[in-house]
Amino acid sequence: MMYYTHLAFGLLVSLLSIEFFPIKNKILFIIIATFFSILPDIDESRSKIGRKNKIISKTINFIFGHRGFIHTIYIPIIIFILFNLINTDIAYAALIGYLSHLLGDSLTKAGITPLYPLINKRINGFLKTNSFFEKIIFLALILANLYLIIKYI
Ligand SMILES: [Zn+2]
Repeated sequence: MMYYTHLAFGLLVSLLSIEFFPIKNKILFIIIATFFSILPDIDESRSKIGRKNKIISKTINFIFGHRGFIHTIYIPIIIFILFNLINTDIAYAALIGYLSHLLGDSLTKAGITPLYPLINKRINGFLKTNSFFEKIIFLALILANLYLIIKYI
């Protein structure tokens, strides 16, 4: 899944979250959730976020590989627990953004192993990264985001 599809999906999930949950700082919530929606691809140095942080990205990729441990549900849970010591809204934003990324990747053909190494089961879908169909999904996400943003203003 391309970074912009992850961003659009993270934005949608954060916009829906502020609608249903009593979040105090809504703008901060959206920014953090959207950022965390692309963070997991730090484990791939050719990804958008990886290219901007080459040394960190190459190190993480060397240790964990792409779509390895960084793409499991343990990471967002750990991030949530740590951030929750500081601020609950930020913790939820990070959790929701990160999980949106994992959900997005689980729809792709390559998929992810969300419970690795405890359970080595790959979850994958039909979506080919950067395909025409992904672009259709991206457009649909943009329209849904615009609808929600206009609704808020
Ligand atoms: Zn990913």
